[in-house]
Amino acid sequence: MSDVTTPRFRSVLDRFVAYKPGKVVVSPEGRSFKLSSNESPHGPLPSVLDAIGEAAANVNRYPDNNATALIEAIASHCGVPTDHVAVGCGSVGVSQMLLEAVAEPGAEIVYAWRSFEAYPLLVALSGASAVQVPLRDETHDLAAMADAITEHTRLVFVCNPNNPTGTVVRRAEIERFLDRVPADCLVVLDEAYREYVRDDEVPDGLAMYGDRPNLAVLRTFSKAYGLAGLRIGYLVAHPLVAGAIRKTFLPFSVNSVAQAAGVASLAATGELLARVEDTVKERERVRDALLADGWTVPPTEANFVWLRLGDRTTEFSEACDAQGVSVRPFAGEGARVSIGSPEENDAFLAVAHSFPHGG
Ligand SMILES: *Cc1c(COP(=O)(O)O)cnc(C)c1O
Repeated sequence: MSDVTTPRFRSVLDRFVAYKPGKVVVSPEGRSFKLSSNESPHGPLPSVLDAIGEAAANVNRYPDNNATALIEAIASHCGVPTDHVAVGCGSVGVSQMLLEAVAEPGAEIVYAWRSFEAYPLLVALSGASAVQVPLRDETHDLAAMADAITEHTRLVFVCNPNNPTGTVVRRAEIERFLDRVPADCLVVLDEAYREYVRDDEVPDGLAMYGDRPNLAVLRTFSKAYGLAGLRIGYLVAHPLVAGAIRKTFLPFSVNSVAQAAGVASLAATGELLARVEDTVKERERVRDALLADGWTVPPTEANFVWLRLGDRTTEFSEACDAQGVSVRPFAGEGARVSIGSPEENDAFLAVAHSFPHGG
């Protein structure tokens, strides 16, 4: 027993460490390339900056708590009714809202592992139990995930493409999985990287949730739409689900600047998707260069690549740091490297090229 009396905290806080964001590193020559958080390498479009500036002039006022204009713009962009949409403070915020709506002690939440690092954190905080189903060949094992569902399972996260491996699950496989999930268990299809997908066999969740009231599609403005710093995510689902999730919204947690930027970004979808196309081309160039160098890189449909480095992960990450390239290492497993500008990607490829590797 410690002799210091402290405020009492939930015991769950002793069992995990707080979310670790991607870091910024600077080389001795002053170079700094951030490839650790899957952000867009581009700054906001002029039209979006204008909207941000206008909204900034009114920040003495509370935001529209119903995010009316933003939800209308999202609904129209997705071709769905407005009561199918709920927004939150990033899709991490929406994930927390989903858990607020379904999780309690005794409930189980199923997700693949390794996958998005926010899942274990949010599930632990929610009071529910996490059921992690190992990836198979760095890909969601949907059959094993369906097997892991019990009468206590309230929600299953399916991250497609998967962060950090970039791998996908395809239409037939997902439909087979959804057919096996009980109707009272919610499936959350996290499509944070949807805009980068070029494989036709990867279904668009929005085309799938129509006749499945237990399927919710999660999207974000943080990646292809380049607004990671403003924190907007959304969910599209049947009105019963969207309505339940809206009840858990932390009041005013999608701020007025974010709402305005989100509306302006959807209006500039064409320009933003052209940038995504450049990133997709760079992704193929980077993967091809790595393969030519003898690396093993799973096919990726996202804006990052995964290097299976095993126990050399930390060493690789340090070699990158020394050149001012920040990547996301998962010690003992591998490193996730975002696709950035051609110059940034070249800096990463140079490190990978000279790093001794057996594939
Ligand atoms: C980046 C990412 C998100 C986006 O999170 P925001 O809170 O919207 O910034 C969501 N899901 C996955 C799997 C991601 O990699």
